[in-house]
Amino acid sequence: MLKFIKKLFNKKEIARIKELEVENEKLKKELEKLSEYAAEMEYCIEMNEREEEQQELEATTEKCSCGGHLIPMYEDHPNWITICTSCDKRSANTDMSPIKEPA
Ligand SMILES: [Zn+2]
Repeated sequence: MLKFIKKLFNKKEIARIKELEVENEKLKKELEKLSEYAAEMEYCIEMNEREEEQQELEATTEKCSCGGHLIPMYEDHPNWITICTSCDKRSANTDMSPIKEPA
């Protein structure tokens, strides 16, 4: 009798384990979906940020003849030397140079 109960108990345990395994698989798939979704969201956010950066660039910088943007080479001296983001053309405004010419 005891043996029978033990066997029955084991069967129940095994069935429960199988149930949990199925549950586990389900959750794994769910997690996969969610991380895919999260990656997509991250990508969207990054794209938005890039677009915003681009818009800011359009609004705050001059355009180069090549279509690129002239951005300041030194943040501390934004009006001194500008460099194009696509063709590397530089333009220097010597009046704004922080370097004093020797007299
Ligand atoms: Zn250019």
